[in-house]
Amino acid sequence: MTGSDAQGFGEMPIGDELLDRSMLERLLERSPHAVILVAADWRVSFVNRKAAELANNPVAKLIGDKVWTAFPFLEGAQLHCQRALQKQADLEFELQLPNDRWLQVCVCPEQQGFALYCTDITAFKLAETALREREAELQDFFENGNVPLHWVGPDGTILWANTAELTMLGYSEDEYVGCKISDFHADPAIIEDILRRLASNEKLDSYESALRCKDGSIRHVAISSRVYRKTGAFVHTRCFTRDISAEKARAEVQERLVAIVHSSDDAIVSKDLNGVITSWNMSAERIFGYSAHEAIGQTVAGLLIPEDRQDEEPDILSRLHRGERVDHFQTKRKRKDGTLLDISLTISPVRDSKGSIVGASKIARDITEQVRNLEALQRANEALKRSNADLEQFAYSASHDLQEPLRMVSTYGEMLKKKYREKLDAQADEYIGYIVEGAARMERLLRDLRAFTQATLEQESSPPAVDSQGVFNSALLNLKTAIQESQAQITVGLLPRVRIHEFQLSQIFQNIIGNAIHYRSEALPRIHVEAQRDGDFWRFSIEDNGIGIESEYKEQIFGIFTRLHPASDYSGTGMGLAICQRIVERAGGRIWVESEPQRGSTFFFTLPAQLGN
Ligand code: ADP
Repeated sequence: MTGSDAQGFGEMPIGDELLDRSMLERLLERSPHAVILVAADWRVSFVNRKAAELANNPVAKLIGDKVWTAFPFLEGAQLHCQRALQKQADLEFELQLPNDRWLQVCVCPEQQGFALYCTDITAFKLAETALREREAELQDFFENGNVPLHWVGPDGTILWANTAELTMLGYSEDEYVGCKISDFHADPAIIEDILRRLASNEKLDSYESALRCKDGSIRHVAISSRVYRKTGAFVHTRCFTRDISAEKARAEVQERLVAIVHSSDDAIVSKDLNGVITSWNMSAERIFGYSAHEAIGQTVAGLLIPEDRQDEEPDILSRLHRGERVDHFQTKRKRKDGTLLDISLTISPVRDSKGSIVGASKIARDITEQVRNLEALQRANEALKRSNADLEQFAYSASHDLQEPLRMVSTYGEMLKKKYREKLDAQADEYIGYIVEGAARMERLLRDLRAFTQATLEQESSPPAVDSQGVFNSALLNLKTAIQESQAQITVGLLPRVRIHEFQLSQIFQNIIGNAIHYRSEALPRIHVEAQRDGDFWRFSIEDNGIGIESEYKEQIFGIFTRLHPASDYSGTGMGLAICQRIVERAGGRIWVESEPQRGSTFFFTLPAQLGN
């Protein structure tokens, strides 16, 4: 337009043809731009239809008015217009109108005045703003989102990395950006593969690799990437790195669990809350005889539970519904071939990630063999108990029944001795002596045997507490003769109250102290008795300086009729310690000896303490 006649559209040369004024006016009328011609006196000399629309006034009302009166919203353009006129050069600028609309305005100085070309760019401006916001959002997402991200150049140099990536690996920007990405991959060779794939336009989707963190640990990552090209050239790759370390660890645990379930000796079965089987391991196949294919989808009740135990399943299911476990429940289940198995069941509710109970896992152990063995053991035990009781009863009766005939032998032996001594020959005297001595020995044996059986057969009730000091003193009175003859020195500490029948404790003291005197060495016997608290028990010790016991006999001496010496060296029946052991064990304690040959022995026994004692 520059250089044309601002007042009117005279004839303008366009190419070889002449464009007449009316044609020009028609063209301007159809223009999508508002065209305003302003004369040197700032009055409007021409407006097209678009300009009239912009002013929201008919053309006729606008012509002749001062431009800022006709178009008040263009007032902001005044300075630009003056500058363009001063410089006599076109000037283009954007103008924001008060109603949030935008115009692109071009001021074109003419010989007399100037022309204004205005284009409504509101839609464009809105799109541009939206685009900028989007760009800022994306930038923020890349920079600060929690998805680790880095850009890599075609030669493998890291061009950029976001905060999430740096945080994940523990490096600062300086330690990471600018370095080769291969330096950070646990297997650097993998980078060649990645770059080769990307260069050939392959899109990487969750490509698994492992990155080395600053602290030396390894992060398993899944990389998703593609090449960003500009005019066909490889500019960089954009790599999204998803940390899958936890996922991998979980998967490994999962695999291990699956392996455990597979290799378990127990049947491991899961079922839903209706009792329908949902998984079935190898041992379940072996134990119950059904394949996984046959079992899954069937109900436990229909497949495994025998007719007479059908009421167990509703009870188990209702306990599972309440979130309760079933522990070591012993029952019977049916195999595919119909045979019954003894099973120990442990059933636990299975919850989903929200904590709701969705089913149950069940471990079934085949204890058929175990139950059979236990039953056999119980039967043997019962038989043993019966035969022991019979034996004890027999020993008890025998020791009583033999008393009478023995008394006859002993009485008539004594009478023979008294009446016919030195009246028959010397050999007869010797034989009569043997009879009397044998009968006396037999009597002692029967007495001890009776004491032994009594320790088992009597006193079923829990014994009262007894003052062991008093019992000890009366036991010493019974041993008075032996103590005096041997000149034994007996010392004693404080003795407690214990739970045992008085006469039994007296028997223990007499037997053990009697032995300490009987099995004395050449030195005068010195015996010390004391008691120490040991939890709920008192531990008594009776120490002597006698001949001692070889360690190999320390247990044997508590057996019945066990003696370590011939009767010619030391008399005895071999029953004393057996009786003590019986009594102590019946009272809930135990008895043992510590000894060294020629240095003496210490007999220990424990007895339950009186409560609060
Ligand atoms: P008995 O004394 O009647 O033979 P016991 O059952 O009392 O029967 O003792 C079993 C054996 O233990 C004794 O024959 C003796 O050899 C040994 N014995 C018991 N007490 C002592 C002791 N204090 N010192 C050495 N040996 C002992």
